[in-house]
Amino acid sequence: MSDRPNRPLSPATKLAQALRFLDEETGAIVPPIQPTATYARDGDYGLRQSYMYRRDSNQTTEQAEAIIADHEEATECMLFASGMSACTAVIDALEAGAHVVVPDVMYHGVLQQFQRCNAMGRLDVSFYRTGDLGDMARHCRHGQTRLVWVETPNNPDWDVTDIAAASEVAHKAGARLLTDCTGTPPCATRALSFGADISFHSATKYLNGHSDVTAGALSVRETGAFWDEIFERRKLTGTVLHSFDAWLLIRGMRTLMLRYERATQNALRIATHFESHPQVEAVLYPGLPSHPGHEVATRQTGGMYGGMLSIVVRGGEQAAIDVARFCGLFYPATSLGGVESLIEHRKTVSGEGFNVHPALLRLSIGIEDADDLIADLEQALTRAGG
Ligand SMILES: *Cc1c(COP(=O)(O)O)cnc(C)c1O
Repeated sequence: MSDRPNRPLSPATKLAQALRFLDEETGAIVPPIQPTATYARDGDYGLRQSYMYRRDSNQTTEQAEAIIADHEEATECMLFASGMSACTAVIDALEAGAHVVVPDVMYHGVLQQFQRCNAMGRLDVSFYRTGDLGDMARHCRHGQTRLVWVETPNNPDWDVTDIAAASEVAHKAGARLLTDCTGTPPCATRALSFGADISFHSATKYLNGHSDVTAGALSVRETGAFWDEIFERRKLTGTVLHSFDAWLLIRGMRTLMLRYERATQNALRIATHFESHPQVEAVLYPGLPSHPGHEVATRQTGGMYGGMLSIVVRGGEQAAIDVARFCGLFYPATSLGGVESLIEHRKTVSGEGFNVHPALLRLSIGIEDADDLIADLEQALTRAGG
């Protein structure tokens, strides 16, 4: 007899207990790490379980996948050694010359992959104005477009795209919709429930949350030939998430809800504080009522807007670089979604060929004290302005 309550458990409970992990043999409540690269066959020369070799998968990685699949309300999840290897597996699984529709402003690594595939003739890529569903629809070709890519909120401007409306556009053209909602993990946005076919997250970011793992997660409700092809890509290229990293990810996800809630509270305070600051031209944060995507973001995140925001500094590019240099608490580093706050001058980091405001600073707000973070930015702005 189970002594658990009958109602479904909340995501916070399931994450905290790593889906109620318990080793029946020893009583351990923390899973072991399975580091083996190969698996011995049994006396009949058969496989003992489904595992043969590390590149297929392993037990620790599958535990992390089960937690994410449950959290995404997906049927399956696949974990990769980085967000980029997950995105690349999707791209590689498309047939040669396939037409895809992608945003013109998005995470620079993925954009670069599409630009290269387009230049090499590997894919036929159309770029739509980020967040503009009419423009997205105009670029879709009925029966030809295979994939529509949405990043929301998108890097580094944090424009918001309506996932449900985008899925209608994609499906009308007979295409799949993939969403990259790395900035708002599933505890805020469950993209599959808004109609996305594939939900991608860089698990390097909020899901792990401690800046000590790179990982990428793909989740789906409907499996099939395309999903199988993605699995083959992962196996053939050896980009499955390593078991040590999977273990760290499992540990990190136990506190996802707490970390994300705190980051959201901090970001809202910081965004509000600097919105009317004389040295700040603009604060880009979907949690601000003045943000054009605020209403859609509220619907898609349940008010959990996350810790990502950008500020455009008055005084131009050098002033922005100076603010990043002069911060003493914010680490001047790329990445996002960790417990520690980061600041980066996006133009320096993304390089040439990306449409980014030269005075834009991207902030990943962590779980520190918000007043400490505000004071750090204040002193850096004062120094850069003087
Ligand atoms: C970081 C990131 C990626 C790439 O993931 P990695 O884990 O760094 O390879 C893709 N999309 C977004 C929105 C990201 O923030």
